[in-house]
Formats: sequence, structure tokens, C-alpha cells
Amino acid sequence: MTDVEHRDVVVVGLGSMGSMALWQLAIRGVDVLGLEQFGRVHTYGAYAGESRLFRVAAKEGQLFTPALMRSRELWQELGTAYGQHPLMPVGALSLGPRGHPDIESTLRSIQQYDLPHEILDPAELRVRYPQFHVEDDDVGVFDTQGGLVRSELAVAAASDQALAHGAHAWYDTTVVALEPGTNGVRIVTSRGDVMADRVVVSAGPWTTRLLPELADIVKVVSYNLIWFMPRHIEMFTPDRFPGFMRDLDGVHAFGIPTLDGYSVKATPNLGFSVVEDWDERSTTLTREQLRWAGVQMQKMIPDLMPDASRWSVHGESLAANKMPIIDTVADGAIVVATALSGNGFKFSPVWGEMLADLVTTGRGRFTEHAFTVAAHRQVPSVVGAPG
Ligand SMILES: Cc1cc2nc3c(=O)[nH]c(=O)nc-3n(C[C@H](O)[C@H](O)[C@H](O)COP(=O)(O)OP(=O)(O)OC[C@H]3O[C@@H](n4cnc5c(N)ncnc54)[C@H](O)[C@@H]3O)c2cc1C
Repeated sequence: MTDVEHRDVVVVGLGSMGSMALWQLAIRGVDVLGLEQFGRVHTYGAYAGESRLFRVAAKEGQLFTPALMRSRELWQELGTAYGQHPLMPVGALSLGPRGHPDIESTLRSIQQYDLPHEILDPAELRVRYPQFHVEDDDVGVFDTQGGLVRSELAVAAASDQALAHGAHAWYDTTVVALEPGTNGVRIVTSRGDVMADRVVVSAGPWTTRLLPELADIVKVVSYNLIWFMPRHIEMFTPDRFPGFMRDLDGVHAFGIPTLDGYSVKATPNLGFSVVEDWDERSTTLTREQLRWAGVQMQKMIPDLMPDASRWSVHGESLAANKMPIIDTVADGAIVVATALSGNGFKFSPVWGEMLADLVTTGRGRFTEHAFTVAAHRQVPSVVGAPG
């Protein structure tokens, strides 16, 4: 019989959450191996596409705000350790009609946790952010601690720090099966088998391939990102333009200041399609979709030229109520984190920390019943868009 490599913990998938879990396990001194089907960073993950919005004032509900406060600390810790900061705290502006549900729930988070913020009326918005078209019934809520995260940099930084603290990683290695048994979990990979006492599955849009028993509650959807070129790029630099979410005439959009010096990520919600398997995805946006997106974005930000200069399509795992799934399965041998549902990147360090805690102590600081598989099975199946 050939010797099979054994590790205390194996992390499957080193993307957004997996790289953070690997880092958090490594700094606890755990004997951990990460397995990733592609490279240390790559263009196929849910995190690809330059940047993600970061907010502390959670529109998703007040239960998330304490986790985001911790996440912010971890972003700063990671940036300091790595020497480059993925988090750019340029602020995050929620701009929409007074009374809009997202604005209201953002305000509730702010009030409950006394978060630093500014409320801007239309006159103030027009002076401070002349980039936006502002209606007379609009209100702006500026989350001072928000901003953006450079997502590929974040994954690279967490992976680097994990390896620096003694973690192991096998790249270009696909996990094809997980076989829990009495002596731990056998992980069958394209490079041979590995045994582990505990396994973290953070496989993003590919999760249900490894855990098909979750297919009734985890869907895979494709979301897109679009960049437009403004005529006056100097108005869109991070010192003058925040991360934003804009609701206008029933259209939701989000965006990021220019990071490349000539274009601005500004993406209206084009809807999304559910796919059976992420590798069967369509990665195309039609000319019609791009034209519609250009018209919407120019309405919201008149300085943008309506022809997209760049776009991309990415897979994401999604649950019906947009709550993440962070839970143990297979009698506790496997901890799964999935269904970040279009807004999970901002949480990735705190969920990584929670995964490390669940694996090492059986309890995570922000554990919620709502994150369990059982709770998700109670939820009617309605799906939503990123933001
Ligand atoms: C277009 C778009 C816009 C978004 N906007 C925002 C935003 O503004 N703010 C925000 O906070 N969030 C946002 N999100 C959500 C956020 O990006 C995701 O929730 C997050 O990246 C999901 O991370 P993950 O770890 O689940 O998946 P991933 O980051 O995709 O990681 C999964 C990893 O597992 C690997 N893997 C999978 N299967 C295997 C296998 N069998 N063997 C080995 N490796 C495997 C993959 O290669 C990948 O590296 C957005 C998402 C999308 C798609």
C-alpha cells in the first residue's frame, strides 16, 4: 500500500474565502494544505474583475454589521502584513430615492451600531458629487468606513501570508471527490489522494460538484461587470469619487472609482441566469445588453460615454434569501462555506476567520442559525442580484 499524504486540515478552493481560511489557519499554527484547481490568482473565480465594493453599513441586515466591522480590521491586518493594502477606504455612497428599502436598511445598520456616516440631501450631493445625476427626491448615505477591495490583490495577499506562516498549497490540482470515513476524509485529487482530519470546502461556484447534496439550496448564477470611459477621468479618481450603489427609475447599479486611470467600473443590474454547472456557463453579453447598460449608466452618470470599454462575466453561488451557508456537514468532518450570494467578498476575511475557528474550536464568533443548511432548507426559492 502506498503512503497517502496526511494533513490535519485541507482547504478545497483557494479563492475569496479559501485563501483567507488558509491564512487564518496558518497563523494559528495548524498543519494545513490548500488545494486549488487553477493558480494562486486566476480569472475564473467569483472574485475576478479587479475590485469589489466594501461597506460596513450593511444593507443586507443588521446582523452582518458586526462581522463587517471585524472584516475591516482583518483587511487592515492583511494589508499591513503583506505590504500592499487590498482595502481602499474611499467611502461608499448609497444613492437613491428617499425611503428605498436598501437605503432604509443601510440607515438601520448605521443607527444600531452608531457607525460614522453622512446623510446628503440633493443640493449637497450635487455639490459634492457632480458626477451623478441627482433627482429632487434622492438621498445619499455615505458610509465613511466603506470603499472598495482590490479582489485579486486580496487573494494573492492572503495566500502569500498563509504560505509565509507554514501553510502548504497545491495549485493546478482539482479535487474530484470527498470521501468521509472513520479515519478522516479522503480527498481524491488530480494529483493523488490526501487524508485530512477536517476539510474546509470553499469552492465557490463549483461547490455542488463536490457536495451535490446541497444542490437544492445552492444555485450558480452568472453576474457581470462593465467598465465605461468618462470624458473627464480626473473626476473619477479615488480621492474624488467613492464606491457607490445607485438606484434610479427602478434600476440598481454599483461602481468603483477609476483604478486603471481611464475607465470606471459602473454596472447596472442586467439580471442573471441560473446555470446547472458553472463550466456550462455563457460568458457573453449581447450588444443589446451592453447598449442598455450604457444608456442606464449615462442617465446616472452623464459624463460616461455609453459604449462599454470592458466587461466580464463571473460565476457566483447563491442562496434563495442571499444568506451565506457556513456550516458543518458529514458529521462535522467537513465545514462548508458557500452561497455568498453576490455580496460576499467584503466578508471574506471574517468568514475565513470563522472557518478557522469552526475547524479548530467547533464554534465561530459570528455563527448564526440562519447560515446553517437546515435553515436554508426552510427558505422559499427566490433569487436576487449582486450589490
Ligand atoms: C460580478 C460580481 C460582482 C460582485 N460584487 C461584489 C461587491 O461589490 N462586493 C462584495 O462584497 N461582493 C461582491 N460579489 C460577491 C463576491 O465576489 C463573492 O461572494 C465571492 O468572491 C465568492 O467567493 P468564494 O470563495 O465563494 O468563491 P471563489 O472566490 O470563486 O473561490 C472558489 C475557489 O475554489 C476553486 N475550486 C473550485 N472547485 C475546486 C475543486 N474541485 N478543486 C480545487 N479548487 C476548486 C476555484 O478555482 C476558486 O479559486 C460579486 C460577485 C460577482 C460575481
